[in-house]
Amino acid sequence: MLEEYIPFVGEETIQELILISKKLKDLKVLHVNSTYKGGGVAEILNSLVPLMNELEIKTDWKVFRGDERFFSFTKKLHNLLHIPCGKYINSDEFVYYLKITFENLKEIDTENYDIVFIHDPQPMGLIIKKHPGQKWIWRCHIDTSTPDPQAWNFLENFLNAYDACIFHMPEFAYERITIPIYTIPPSIDPLHPKNIELSEEEIKNIITKFGIDLEKPIILQVSRFDRLKDPFGVFEAFKLIKKKYDCQLVLVGSFAEDDPEGESVYKELLNKTSGEKDVFVLNLPPNSHREINAFQRGATVVVQKSLKEGFGLVVSEAMWKGKPVVGSNVGGIKRQIVHGITGYLVNSIEGAAVRIKQLLANKYFRDEMGFHAKERVKHRFLIIRHLRDYLILIYKILNQKS
Ligand code: UDP
Repeated sequence: MLEEYIPFVGEETIQELILISKKLKDLKVLHVNSTYKGGGVAEILNSLVPLMNELEIKTDWKVFRGDERFFSFTKKLHNLLHIPCGKYINSDEFVYYLKITFENLKEIDTENYDIVFIHDPQPMGLIIKKHPGQKWIWRCHIDTSTPDPQAWNFLENFLNAYDACIFHMPEFAYERITIPIYTIPPSIDPLHPKNIELSEEEIKNIITKFGIDLEKPIILQVSRFDRLKDPFGVFEAFKLIKKKYDCQLVLVGSFAEDDPEGESVYKELLNKTSGEKDVFVLNLPPNSHREINAFQRGATVVVQKSLKEGFGLVVSEAMWKGKPVVGSNVGGIKRQIVHGITGYLVNSIEGAAVRIKQLLANKYFRDEMGFHAKERVKHRFLIIRHLRDYLILIYKILNQKS
């Protein structure tokens, strides 16, 4: 319920939201992504879609279906959009992408919507069945500031038919884009089970259930099992820290339906860390929200050592819980962490180890940074701000001359 957000954002903000939404009443909006669970996009839509409906903007969420071959290709595309690495997209892959797109068009009826939001590259091809009068918006959750040119060519087959595109940060918008560009950073939901307050007892029960010692400092990273999240780098940093501090490393992860690489990364991580004292690699089911919440609250320092990152909701989630975050100086992490104020931005394994050690050594410092971290999320990265940005964007696009 919208009014439940008043304690976080104030009554005026909610009133303003209602006022804006009156201009969009009875509009039909569709969001399409490629998974209901696992990853940040699903997390956001879970909160955003009901709130839009509460504002009487009729909003549906549909999921694009694919098989392993399709998602292996789109994961490769995802990686290429983040970092050019000399792998090529071949014509068979293109044909298969179209085949799955046509299959989805039989299931996903887009005809009755005024506005269609397509999230990320997987469902992007659905635009081939755009109906007259509709506005289609491509919502990109990837850092595409330096994409592989061939991967970008692939997107351009579809992108130019869209009415607008949205990126998390202005620098993610590749210079070749010719359609209107907007920037909207993502957000977390303070009322989601992942972010609500938990009792000390529940935090303790959850963490100790996994054999973790609450008396010893906990260094935590929460991420899908994905190479770009660099859990291996976190482990290397931990080994450097462990020489000086008796602490524990907890790597919490899960699989997402649209990421077939998860299992192999998980296995490799188990192999690499096996026999290491005080290292916990936990593969949790996708809906383990209270568990993630408890780990983030119980952690001493939270890390996000991604090699590339669209945004990294996990950073804001931890900051919201008053934790200083040591994050890589990349993508959306740069936007969340204010270096030296709410956490640290680092460029290497050694840098991460130094900053984590600094935080482990000083509780006053951790609390001070944690306080500023929470304030930052409160003012910039909560769902109500995100919703407001979406409504204003829809209004603008409806009034955009095409
Ligand atoms: N997440 C989770 N369980 C896990 C790993 C991640 O619930 O084992 C959640 C995490 O709390 C966050 C989202 O999945 O809400 C991940 O979003 P983020 O933007 O950090 O990364 P993405 O997976 O979208 O690249």
